[in-house]
Amino acid sequence: MSDDERIVGPEQSVEDAPEYSLRPKRLREFIGQRALKENLQIAIEAARMRSEPLDHTLFYGPPGLGKTTLSMVCANEMGAPIRITSGPAIERPGDLVAILTNLDRGSVLFIDEIHRLNRVVEEILYPAMEDHTVDIVLGKGPSARSVRLPIPPFTLVGATTRAGLLSAPLRDRFGMHQYFSFYTDEELGTIVERSATILNVKITADGIGEISRRSRGTPRIANRLLRRCRDFADVRGTGVIDQAAADGCLALLRIDGLGLDEFDRKYLRAIVEKHGGGPVGVETLSAALSEERDTIEDMYEPFLLQLGFLQRTPRGRVATRSAYDHLGITDSRSHVGSQGTLL
Ligand code: ADP
Repeated sequence: MSDDERIVGPEQSVEDAPEYSLRPKRLREFIGQRALKENLQIAIEAARMRSEPLDHTLFYGPPGLGKTTLSMVCANEMGAPIRITSGPAIERPGDLVAILTNLDRGSVLFIDEIHRLNRVVEEILYPAMEDHTVDIVLGKGPSARSVRLPIPPFTLVGATTRAGLLSAPLRDRFGMHQYFSFYTDEELGTIVERSATILNVKITADGIGEISRRSRGTPRIANRLLRRCRDFADVRGTGVIDQAAADGCLALLRIDGLGLDEFDRKYLRAIVEKHGGGPVGVETLSAALSEERDTIEDMYEPFLLQLGFLQRTPRGRVATRSAYDHLGITDSRSHVGSQGTLL
């Protein structure tokens, strides 16, 4: 199954085009991530008091949890312009130099998937972050010379799905490291309710509860399911997303009570049925499921780990007893504890 077909995939797709209007603009509108928000609020207020740009900040966590949104909120709260780009989009050092030299004073530069910057490009960032300078080479061959250019003070906000993927020199240059965790059903309920108001969708409390419970702790998925349920309610129901409409729509999308879809079940079944519950290496799973290792690690596993269905051990992935229960398969292993730990 390709990513674009996956309704509960946390990555951005064309379907999320109306996302812009649903993004909270201010910190007080941003729901959940309480500790992270409080840290940011203090940093923002302190920077504003000193009339300095905000410290360079690294956001890490699974896709769809609000990293881009919060970087926009930071810029808004600082009254600063924002420039948004991504690691793979910056191919040559010259591309990054052009971006950096064109920033306004105090701007926020958001680089999504910052772990995918290539090494030469990444090295341009070091003096830029530390000393507000960039080194460029003019000319070629023996007459080439290096020139140091000043750039305006700015804030780099980097986003990555896994902090471990970042090189140590880059990671160390961020003053703040903030981890995004999955949202609770209650927080997602507030997000669904807010989005429904903005999109003018009629929804009952049951409808909100059903969508929140089945959105894998991820606002992007909650907003996507809300739009799908609205279509379903308009065409097959009464125009209101109630329990029946939400259930009917999600059953049609083959999303189960916990928000798992066909791929998740296929993934778990591959561990359980083909590898005796594990441990099995992620490369083996990637080959068996014809899915890239990175996609498996970024898109599928974080939520299965969060549910306690999966354990990552040095010897590979292990399905826990709860995963067996969810699949309705009897777990006859004696060497694996209920948490999936190898005994
Ligand atoms: P990421 O950059 O982590 O992949 P985004 O910032 O693009 O995620 O968020 C995806 C969508 O989810 C946004 O369009 C926004 O509408 C919604 N969203 C994310 N976090 C929140 C939040 N805390 N409150 C309300 N909506 C949110």
